[in-house]
Amino acid sequence: MVGEVWRIGDVKISRIVEIEATGGMTRIIPDATRERVMGMRWLQPHFADEEGRMRGAIYALLVETPSMAIVVDTCVGNDKDRALGAWNHLQTAFLDDLKAAGKGREEVDRVLCTHLHVDHVGWNTMWVDGKWVPTFPNARYLMGRKEFDHWRANAEDGQADVMADSVMPVYDAGLVDLVEQDAEICPEITLIPSPGHTPGHASVHIQSEDEAALITGDFLHHPVQFAHPEWSSAPDVDRPQAIQTRKTMYERFADGPTLIIGTHFATPTAGFIKRDGDAWRLDV
Ligand SMILES: [Zn+2]
Repeated sequence: MVGEVWRIGDVKISRIVEIEATGGMTRIIPDATRERVMGMRWLQPHFADEEGRMRGAIYALLVETPSMAIVVDTCVGNDKDRALGAWNHLQTAFLDDLKAAGKGREEVDRVLCTHLHVDHVGWNTMWVDGKWVPTFPNARYLMGRKEFDHWRANAEDGQADVMADSVMPVYDAGLVDLVEQDAEICPEITLIPSPGHTPGHASVHIQSEDEAALITGDFLHHPVQFAHPEWSSAPDVDRPQAIQTRKTMYERFADGPTLIIGTHFATPTAGFIKRDGDAWRLDV
């Protein structure tokens, strides 16, 4: 499904949704029980229902600047063997949706992964004639050097499979550029280090004319973590560091003009961080 489209100066950002669902996110943020979420009325109706069930999504962004087309994060992907039933052997119309949003897979110039978890690298590859091949044959795939080195050395908890079917095939094809966590991708797009969820995690800052946006990646998973930055996400590799990153990023962007595009936020996906007492919230 093609979702929202935003314009940040000369940059067009289109959301290509693989999965959007209600419930199941307490698995990711165990402190966010239904009772607690129910009491936070500002999350309704977009990010939680009246019974405290959180909404979430997995999607990619097509970011079109005047000089290039970039896909940011590539979801779970089709045909992948995954332990989680809802992610196993998906068959979605992702590539048709990407084309409907503006680009066929041969027209993509860059693929940018905020980090190398399973739901951010899936469409790096596709299953063709019995093997995983690069989905975007004319793209350079940009991955964090620190992130790549970490997961090559520590491929536990299913990450070995993810590296094998979604990362190494593009690396072995010579399509990967390992980049620093604060790399400039093009004049409008710069990475911001946001470690903790994973060691080499980066967020994506977009600036054009006098407008700006931030693609969070997974330094948070749900807007409930604006109110409770101390609520860890279960997959956070370094929880104290992840908490510090959330607070630092909220402080930096609160009450400012930067559109915050939350990588796992349900529709409408983007908003502005506002200070709210000792914590923060998202205004959409
Ligand atoms: Zn994720």
